[in-house]
Amino acid sequence: MAMSKQVPELSIVIPILNEETSIPKLLPQLKELCDQAKIDVEVICVDDGSTDKTLEKLDELHAKEPVFKVVALSRNFGKEAAILAGFDFSSGQAVILMDADFQDPPELIPKLVSEWREGADIVHAVRKSRKDGVVKRFTAWVYYKIINLLSDVHIIPNAGDFKLYSRNVVDALLDLPERNRFMKGLSSWVGFDSKTVYFDRPARQYGRTKWSYFKLWNYSLEGMTSFSGSLIKIWTYIGFLTSMFAFCYALFLVVRVWLYGVDVPGYASLAVIMLFFNGVVLIGMGLLGEYISRIFIEVKGRPKYIVKHKKGLT
Ligand code: UDP
Ligand code: MG
Repeated sequence: MAMSKQVPELSIVIPILNEETSIPKLLPQLKELCDQAKIDVEVICVDDGSTDKTLEKLDELHAKEPVFKVVALSRNFGKEAAILAGFDFSSGQAVILMDADFQDPPELIPKLVSEWREGADIVHAVRKSRKDGVVKRFTAWVYYKIINLLSDVHIIPNAGDFKLYSRNVVDALLDLPERNRFMKGLSSWVGFDSKTVYFDRPARQYGRTKWSYFKLWNYSLEGMTSFSGSLIKIWTYIGFLTSMFAFCYALFLVVRVWLYGVDVPGYASLAVIMLFFNGVVLIGMGLLGEYISRIFIEVKGRPKYIVKHKKGLT
């Protein structure tokens, strides 16, 4: 390498949480692939508060090969924060974001890079097939349907976070001030010309998924609430409709009493109606809470992540 190291052509950003088995295999493979494809690369490994040997392994790899650079966060800040840290420290003209578990096949990297060299600003890698279980595939499908129905930006189904971004896009993303980040949405919100490359998504090779269904649920809410006000607005209409219904029902009761007199006092229907409307009110309040808690987090203005140590980065 030249004395004064120039900006690398490509930065590969990898958010990492407890991936001690896959990291020592993934990183050398990335380097080899890029060498073969003549891509000048740096790999930004963001350790998101791993509790296993991941960070030691990363530091060792950095000592052997300085293109592997390490940012260690002070605790687990979540994947989105780790991604942001990786972007902050990346200097490449293009940035590829990928998972550490081989679910984003490294072999695709040269293809993503060549699309970018031909002029695309964002290159999405979209999986043709998911090897996940039926439940996960179904929930993912429902999720993409709902979120695209509700929000103003189009989120490409099955395009995970595996993408290439040009420097322009990365800078635009870094300019966004929000703390609650939903990359899948933001990356389409910023615009720019995009291309799509298709691949078969393999099952996770090492370790296991860090997403419990509860975490996934929260993540989905994040996506919906940060990209659409419809969840909160829809309650006005539902409230209006239900009160219209209640009004008609009341009218019907009055007419019935008038014509036939009082029969059995209807406490059952009353109870049902009360339960129903209490439910509606509670859901509405819960939704308000979702937005307000997000506003609260934004307003506190805390840093999005805290760096514990870094290797090979200034
Ligand atoms: N990850 C992270 N912080 C977290 C959870 C996950 O950095 O809090 C990383 C993880 O190490 C992996 C990537 O994000 O590299 C995707 O995680 P996972 O494979 O568990 O998600 P899935 O593929 O099931 O969506
Ligand atoms: Mg995975």
